[in-house]
Amino acid sequence: MKFVLLAVLFILILAYMLYSKSDCAVLERIPYKDGTTITIVNDSCSEGLPHTTNAHTIIMPLGAWNSTRREETLRHELVHIRQRRDSALWFEFYRTEWNYEPIALPPELVSIQIRPNPDTADKPYMLWRNKWLFLPIYREDHSLKNAIVRVYDIHERRFTEVPPEWTAFFLPRLHQIEHPHEISAELLTSRRICDASSKLYAFFDKNYN
Ligand SMILES: [Zn+2]
Repeated sequence: MKFVLLAVLFILILAYMLYSKSDCAVLERIPYKDGTTITIVNDSCSEGLPHTTNAHTIIMPLGAWNSTRREETLRHELVHIRQRRDSALWFEFYRTEWNYEPIALPPELVSIQIRPNPDTADKPYMLWRNKWLFLPIYREDHSLKNAIVRVYDIHERRFTEVPPEWTAFFLPRLHQIEHPHEISAELLTSRRICDASSKLYAFFDKNYN
């Protein structure tokens, strides 16, 4: 009897852990700039990662909302809102100025555990200089936060290091290198000097300032 009770308790705890991991409760909705709404959610929602869900909604887990980096995070998410609203404009910029083209996932990679990102879901696979594909890949813990970006050479059909040409054009210490939407949000949130950022700032000033 005692064993049965313990087993039931164990199953309940496990079910709660699984449930709370994916559970997103809306705590508050706050009107924000440019016709957007900030939706405050619990911290177990998307592992506490801020993101956008459409062209006017920013999801902010409570921890990010209460963080000293709140303003920086909101500036980053507002860039994603603009990318959603003017998608064709941004992808044209990536093609002509940054040498990124959207592609379909190469068939040999379909079994790879790619970490989804709502902010890049429109065209998640972007090929750089017709050769390198940057992919966020889950580690064994299947955590969104711990996914690692790996670079795949579509001609040699193998994973490789970040190409030095890429680092020379962008920067060696960017955090979110998986997709130009993330690179541009990062470069627009904290202004940095490199060839890629100069082109980006000119594009942004022309279209938004
Ligand atoms: Zn982002």
